[in-house]
Amino acid sequence: MTGMGLDYATGLSAPCTVIRMRAIPGAWHRTAAGAGLVGPDGTISPTIFAEMSALAADTGAINLGQGFPDEDGPAAVLDAARAAIAAGANQYPPGRGIPDLLLAVAEHQHRFYGLALDPGREVLITAGATEALAATLLALIDGPDDEVVVFEPHYDSYAAVVALAGARLRTVPLRWPDFQPDLDELRSTVTDRTRVILVNDPHNPTGAVFGQEVRDEVVRLAERHDAVIVTDEVYEHLVFDGAHVPIATVPGASERTLTISSAGKTFSTTGWKIGWVSGPAALVDAVLAVKQFLTYVNGSPFQPAIAAGLRLPDEFFTGIASTLRDKRDLLGAGLRAAGFAVSTPRGSYFTVADAAPLGATDAAAFCRELPRRAGVVAIPLTAFATPERRAGYATLVRFAACKRVAVLEDAAARLAAAG
Ligand code: PMP
Ligand code: GLN
Repeated sequence: MTGMGLDYATGLSAPCTVIRMRAIPGAWHRTAAGAGLVGPDGTISPTIFAEMSALAADTGAINLGQGFPDEDGPAAVLDAARAAIAAGANQYPPGRGIPDLLLAVAEHQHRFYGLALDPGREVLITAGATEALAATLLALIDGPDDEVVVFEPHYDSYAAVVALAGARLRTVPLRWPDFQPDLDELRSTVTDRTRVILVNDPHNPTGAVFGQEVRDEVVRLAERHDAVIVTDEVYEHLVFDGAHVPIATVPGASERTLTISSAGKTFSTTGWKIGWVSGPAALVDAVLAVKQFLTYVNGSPFQPAIAAGLRLPDEFFTGIASTLRDKRDLLGAGLRAAGFAVSTPRGSYFTVADAAPLGATDAAAFCRELPRRAGVVAIPLTAFATPERRAGYATLVRFAACKRVAVLEDAAARLAAAG
């Protein structure tokens, strides 16, 4: 549309256009509302990631908000993408993904988790985990009688897509400082209306890694209520103590589980948007039925590069986890020294800190102020919570540790100085 006055920092249009937008009918409004982006006066906000990255750009603050690395990933993966472009991998790949990447995903699931997948029927390549999640949820849920159960706080796209599908989100709270669910609350939230139990492990934004008893209970409940389990495992290689355990490996789970992951976090290629979903052929076919009309296909030169990445030796995968564990420790120590109370994440890019000891009462206001006060950007946990539950996260803030050591040290020094 011409004359929209697009704000290039946030991707949102200027206020005058927002007012006109409100009159536009369509599912966009309930999608934005589902993600908590519609204000009391009807104005539409950008996502918290867009808002905070724009604030970092405007103020020159260190961006520990949006989770993306500030260094390139393995040279072998980057070189493979360049070579694929030079070799002409520049047209549509096959709808499910190139055979070599389908095979590499199947090999990866077997190598790390002992899961046996038929690459031709049980794996689908998507435009990041975001598209995998959207296509999966849109494929499996249909209208107001269907419910999706998730732990809360949760990644923003879950609520947006559930709202787009016109279904209902039911949440089970994770509480500071360990963020493990209460299994009785989980049991009372899953019912015969539950179509999908969606589990993100390792968990964004809390950094929790769930215990075996949580996985077992999810599988028992899914069996009892005939629900599909959808997992979001984008941080699968960023677990700090021991190995990641996919829910699909729990006895009885594999026939009703769709496992989603993505290359972005493992190979520091968040902009490439190569993801995948794997599981029983009939469920993967249902996801494909929707996915083929979202993007159809994507990233032809990146697909062979990620296949090469998935075949890197074990040392690469253990190396990224131990490097990030050291960064977690550095960030945690810096936050403690600056006066925050800090929870210790077991995986993911993120550390949650409580700003209450610094006098904060509202994490969103605290984060909007922090760039000017301390030169650091972080994300309020309330952005990942439904309005009814926000009070439980009122003073909690998420910091990303996936940055260079010197950057984390600088951020820690700035926070300490701002005290
Ligand atoms: N799920 C979670 C939990 C995430 O943190 C992210 C952000 N990387 C995504 C999904 C989206 O992944 P992708 O960038 O591969 O679409
Ligand atoms: N997954 C990243 C985060 O949680 C980025 C998400 C985004 O920008 N949509 O920070």
